[in-house]
Amino acid sequence: MSTASARRMLVTGGAGFLGANFVRYWAARHPSDHQVVLDALTYAGDRSRVADLETNGPVYFVVGDIGDERLVRELMVQQRIDTIVHFAAESHVDRSIVDGATFVRTNVLGTQSLLDAARAAWFAQGQWRPGVRFHHVSTDEVYGPLAPDAPPFNERSPYNPSSPYSASKAASDHLVRAAGVTHGLPYSISHCANNYGPFQHAEKLIPFMVSQALEGLPLTIYGDGLQRREWLAVQDHCAALDAILHADVAGETFCIGGGTELSNLELVQRLCDMIDAPFQADASLRDRFPRCPAALGVPCRSLITHVMDRPGHDRRYALDSTKLRVLTNASPTTEFGVGLEQVVAMALGRIRSISSA
Ligand code: NAD
Repeated sequence: MSTASARRMLVTGGAGFLGANFVRYWAARHPSDHQVVLDALTYAGDRSRVADLETNGPVYFVVGDIGDERLVRELMVQQRIDTIVHFAAESHVDRSIVDGATFVRTNVLGTQSLLDAARAAWFAQGQWRPGVRFHHVSTDEVYGPLAPDAPPFNERSPYNPSSPYSASKAASDHLVRAAGVTHGLPYSISHCANNYGPFQHAEKLIPFMVSQALEGLPLTIYGDGLQRREWLAVQDHCAALDAILHADVAGETFCIGGGTELSNLELVQRLCDMIDAPFQADASLRDRFPRCPAALGVPCRSLITHVMDRPGHDRRYALDSTKLRVLTNASPTTEFGVGLEQVVAMALGRIRSISSA
């Protein structure tokens, strides 16, 4: 793909947390590129996250299922798609424990259907259309638990998924790679650490803890809370994907780490402290969030409650991003404390938005 010519992209799951941030990031950085968002608008999708770009920008929104191969194939031909960025998925581990079949349907069968549509649209007379790319957004969770003192996972680490979610993502990675090996599909795959930032669904750790604290509700932590995760600002994830999509790296896999690793308990404690601090100086917060303990001068940490651990809960994930840095020059620029403060400030209504661009 020439970086000079305008791209025509299909962004699956573009109304979700990562997808919407990516669409906004891409529209700001590459305004000549056309983006077709395909999203089934499940409970996790919200079209309003990109609606302004539909009316005034480069986004054409289609409500539909990635598992509808005919729809995807027709869209790809009509919209002359040359790049697929595949975010659409069922993404919440807790839900996968209750209902694994939905995860297999979307993450595994849905991905295969997209691959079939890509081949139907891009492969003709024994060759792939020049410049096409299928980028698959995967997760660090496919590698399973990392020992406390082991070096971070890298692109050669073996797969060892623990949850129905991570197993379904692992299966989708294998299908993408198999399409590359068997059919020659020009693909790339990225495994990313935990993201945080605007538009994250309230069921995920950071938004959940912030909203619970503001309502004075228990901050329920699985087990001892010492499960360690690596965190990345969603804007830095978007920048890494931009670098991968503009690099000549078909057939390659990348780990995208965040560089900041901490336990879930430490994270929640930091969030509590970030909520407590502005209440001391800003009386309006006490009126707006009267049930928050900070409104009464009580630390939010008092809400922390340990509950029974989740089955199959991995103790640690961490990623080595050396390959990404060497091949594409991308590395995170958002300092974790600063990024987290912004998320809290937004929840408190102290800032109106966090730039995705
Ligand atoms: P999300 O749950 O916020 O969004 C998923 C989006 O996909 C929603 O808009 C939903 O409506 C859509 N969708 C679901 N099923 C669909 C279907 N069958 N057809 C079309 N659209 C469908 O998820 P997210 O956090 O934005 O994650 C996006 C991707 O990134 C996932 O593949 C996830 O595995 C991966 N990932 C996420 C993180 C993270 O921290 N959020 C980290 C690493 C990797």
